[in-house]
Amino acid sequence: MHVALPRKWRPRIFEDLVGQEAVARTLSNAIAENRIASAYLLTGPRGVGKTSTARMLARALNCDKGPTIRPCGECASCREILDRGDSLDVLEMDGASNRKIEHARELIETVRYAPQRDRFRIAIIDEVHMLTNEAFNALLKTLEEPPAHTRFILASTELHKIPATIVSRCQRFAFRALTVKEIAAQLQKVAKAEKISATPGALRLLASAAEGSLRDGLSLLDQAATVAGGAVDEARCAEILALVNQELLEGMYSAVAGGDRSAAIAHLGRLTEAGADPRHVLKEFAAFLRRMLMVAAGATADVAEEDRARVAALSKAMPYDNLLRSVSLALEADALARRIDDPALAVQMLILTLAELPRLRGIEEAIAAAPASPAKPAAPAPAPRPSGSGPRIVSLVSVEPEPEEPPAAEAPPGGEPLERFHDILDARRRVTAAQVSLAESICAVGDDLVLRFGIDRAAAKEALEEHGAKKLLAEVAREAFGRPMRVVLKTGPPADGDLGKAAREVPRATIARERASSRAELDPMVRSAMELFHGELTEIKEEE
Ligand SMILES: [Zn+2]
Repeated sequence: MHVALPRKWRPRIFEDLVGQEAVARTLSNAIAENRIASAYLLTGPRGVGKTSTARMLARALNCDKGPTIRPCGECASCREILDRGDSLDVLEMDGASNRKIEHARELIETVRYAPQRDRFRIAIIDEVHMLTNEAFNALLKTLEEPPAHTRFILASTELHKIPATIVSRCQRFAFRALTVKEIAAQLQKVAKAEKISATPGALRLLASAAEGSLRDGLSLLDQAATVAGGAVDEARCAEILALVNQELLEGMYSAVAGGDRSAAIAHLGRLTEAGADPRHVLKEFAAFLRRMLMVAAGATADVAEEDRARVAALSKAMPYDNLLRSVSLALEADALARRIDDPALAVQMLILTLAELPRLRGIEEAIAAAPASPAKPAAPAPAPRPSGSGPRIVSLVSVEPEPEEPPAAEAPPGGEPLERFHDILDARRRVTAAQVSLAESICAVGDDLVLRFGIDRAAAKEALEEHGAKKLLAEVAREAFGRPMRVVLKTGPPADGDLGKAAREVPRATIARERASSRAELDPMVRSAMELFHGELTEIKEEE
């Protein structure tokens, strides 16, 4: 079985710590002289050995033969910590993934009890700055009067976010980012031991892309070796580090915008199969989303002239508010990916979360919408809203007043039945209505109802082609137009290739609808998305 290099080469003794000589020396001396603090705080950039040091320190303190700077590695305590990071008396917690106060309190309370087997009861709290205030208070209480057998090893990439009261009670060790030279030297050593043939130039490239993090450097070497099949050269490394395939990125974005989970994940799979580092994909995707947001906001200066039309069309695949959310979710995912061992998970979660945004919007609309629609003529007057008149909508961004639409040169034929079509569909099935709203144009031509989708929204079109959805569309069309209609789904530009004309064809009702739905996105939706992002998928219920 292939063990990932960062894991395999995790330092296990202080001498193996690369680039942190000062930390290793001070810690070793203190342990050798039996000067043991009740709390340690390890700070510094990611991927430079903080968590490994925390575990080494825990072994040093709790080894059968200890406290010792050379833990035996054989006793039960040593083995448990080596294998899992925690043991009977060493409890490890990642502040980034276990934010809830109950967990922190529970952990801190547990650590106060006498050890069950070993010398000390030790709590390792990684990314400690993520704890809630309440958790910090509980921690502070324990630190103020630490039980004799209790030890805390705290680690964080963001010292400034830790309360000074906590910092002042810890012995602090500052880890530093590694230089390109140091990382390259270590990669060289690892490559040699692992029988990976790699040119010095290639290793320098990888080391420089690692941005100070040895863990990232090892992870890149791992990928390069896998992709290159053992012979890592500069060209191959450049390839791995190079631009993520833009077409696939666009495809992933379109799938997400259309709420198509499986297509989105499939695109992601192809991106990473091609050898791209998930973190790199994430970075590129975040940059891509940002570009869409900028274009949607009207900033097109950075977009090459010839790309403008295509990029503008792409940016419209997501409502503006969702673009805003996407960028912020992507930034959060990027931060998460830097902290966890499995960055691919962070990207997958991001993609699946973004793919929920169109559906979440539907749910919020359902909440916001009054039960008035032609489909339910007998509906009573909408219940009065809790505060004031009109829908109480809390918008993330101030909504611009609707720009005056130029009067449609040729009013779309059958505007009224089309409006009825949207209303009935809305009432019948919001998910389908949302997919229909992604159509570039909807026109009635004779007995055909033609929905044309931009190529970037093929996912929405595909979803509508599914038997149930198409049948529903036909039923709704029949009701709206008062005669049987054939539903025709098309992708691509109009026959004359004039996308500008296609845009003008969009019925005003559709435009108004899209705007209204953008406004209907309430704060709870953002919260839902955030919660979803933190893994509480079960709380989101899909319509129907
Ligand atoms: Zn031991």
